[in-house]
Amino acid sequence: MTENLIGEAHRPGRIEVVCGSMFSGKTEELIRRMKRAKFAKQKVEIFKPALDTRYSEEDVVSHDQNSIRSTPIESSGSILLLASDIDVVGIDEAQFLDNGLVEVCNELANRGVRVIVAGLDMDYKGVPFGPIPALCAIADEVTKVHAICVKCGSVAYVSHRLVNNDKRVLLGEKDEYEPLCRECYQKAILNEKS
Ligand SMILES: [Zn+2]
Repeated sequence: MTENLIGEAHRPGRIEVVCGSMFSGKTEELIRRMKRAKFAKQKVEIFKPALDTRYSEEDVVSHDQNSIRSTPIESSGSILLLASDIDVVGIDEAQFLDNGLVEVCNELANRGVRVIVAGLDMDYKGVPFGPIPALCAIADEVTKVHAICVKCGSVAYVSHRLVNNDKRVLLGEKDEYEPLCRECYQKAILNEKS
């Protein structure tokens, strides 16, 4: 099937992953793609883990207030039940979902659904996060987005945690994390140890 000029015509099922550190614009990119699909009269819906309650329960909020409905879910299995008549399924903050998400995305894509997954590729220690690495492996297309290092202005690589807390899941905003490049991250870690 050929694409139309804006590239949003119905296409066979596929998996797209948008990953990167915090403040890299993952959610913005997810919403951008979802909006284009919506303009093309596709049925779209975003799912996100129920634990991410930083924004409104019902909507993924974007900066221009033009939000797309989102549904909080407890586990990846819920997506299969809730997305039965959806053309384009978006999944935000996917790093917090269980590893079953990999099979769920495959199943949806096999059914002809376009799946767009956004999530953190690494946790605050630089360790691959949840189902994202496996999703990158099976995806048709992976987009890695980058924040800017707050220390030196080069491309950031990790979301360095500023508060002293070893929990892997710590929902944060600008006070708790800073994007750092590899070099500045190494320096920061050394300083914390000394
Ligand atoms: Zn730097």
